[in-house]
Amino acid sequence: MIKTDVVIIGAGPCGLFQVFELGLLGLNAEVVDSIRQPGGQCSELYPDKPIYDIPGIPVCTGEELTENLMKQIEPFGAGLHLGDEVSVVRPEGDGFHVATDGGKQFSAKAVVIAAGVGSFQPRALRAKGADEIGEDSLQYRVRDPEQYAGKNLAILGGGDSALDWVVELGPIAKHITLVHRRDEYRAVDATVAAMRDLEAAGKVTTLENAKVSELQHEDSELRGMIVGNKSGETFEVDIDQMLVFFGLAPKLGPIAEWGLDINRKTINVDTERFETSTPGIFAVGDINYYPGKKKLILCGFHEAALAAFAIKQRIEPGRKVHVQYTTTSPVMHERLGVKDDEE
Ligand code: FAD
Repeated sequence: MIKTDVVIIGAGPCGLFQVFELGLLGLNAEVVDSIRQPGGQCSELYPDKPIYDIPGIPVCTGEELTENLMKQIEPFGAGLHLGDEVSVVRPEGDGFHVATDGGKQFSAKAVVIAAGVGSFQPRALRAKGADEIGEDSLQYRVRDPEQYAGKNLAILGGGDSALDWVVELGPIAKHITLVHRRDEYRAVDATVAAMRDLEAAGKVTTLENAKVSELQHEDSELRGMIVGNKSGETFEVDIDQMLVFFGLAPKLGPIAEWGLDINRKTINVDTERFETSTPGIFAVGDINYYPGKKKLILCGFHEAALAAFAIKQRIEPGRKVHVQYTTTSPVMHERLGVKDDEE
């Protein structure tokens, strides 16, 4: 059980900046995100695209913004739990019990939902028979590479993840069939070249401009796949296991079950505290709704600042929370680990 002041659900830009605003007020936080890197949409959907409307930064990419936010929150030592989804949030005593799919448990005085457009989930394969295949044979992420040793493996997709795993599992698997719906790959040149080397060595077969139409199985175990290409050819390939990398799509997921006042796929909050219908649970960034809401990073930053003040007030009732400037406040300098100049 990890005890903390605040659990922040989502490590997108607003969740990360929430750590900073809480840290300035002397509150610690643990951040959980279902994807394996911080940055939310910025790192998942547009890492290389320039952003022009972050105040004081004329231009930066999604990846640069994430790196800078990570650097900015460093002094506060927040726990970062990536690749794990928060599935349970329920009141307990004065605070909340928070639990993840991966078995982590937190006891927190407040919760901030910074879940953006939802939790990113792998896009599922739609093919005849796919629903009948067990999780041991049809997978969307690699948990243990050794599982594929000596197996006939199919990898579906043409992006970084698909190609990285072809290259990494090529020497371990008996054989890999790579199926891609185009003939160009969205991966770094060196990885594509390494995949081509494995193909030349007979370890990998590529089926390009192609789609899996059917999975063959015995009980729930995969036995083969039927692949069709743009030229109208059909291939029947024997396989033991399949890995699918069709990218990630957001889903509101378990948040819908936490008893909050939901407005379509967003959570209603007030504009003074950014608190949800459950006192002590706050929501900032793209996930929240109030009249006039704009889904912009700078709006989420403002919301995180006001939510932090409201949380401080909740945790320390009866004590006035003063605004202090980071420029001049010795307390904030201490929290930031900044040494004041000797007079
Ligand atoms: P997100 O960035 O969506 O992050 C939320 C995180 O929460 C995700 O990583 C998700 O996995 C996680 N999560 C959700 N549910 C759970 C759960 N149950 N457990 C664990 N984790 C969970 N905005 C601008 O201001 N300027 C721009 O120029 C701009 N350009 C954009 C370009 C594109 C192509 C796109 C798609 C968006 C752009 N935006 C821009 C919008 C901006 O990216 C969003 O406003 C911003 O990312 C919202 O941040 P957030 O932290 O609220 O949520």
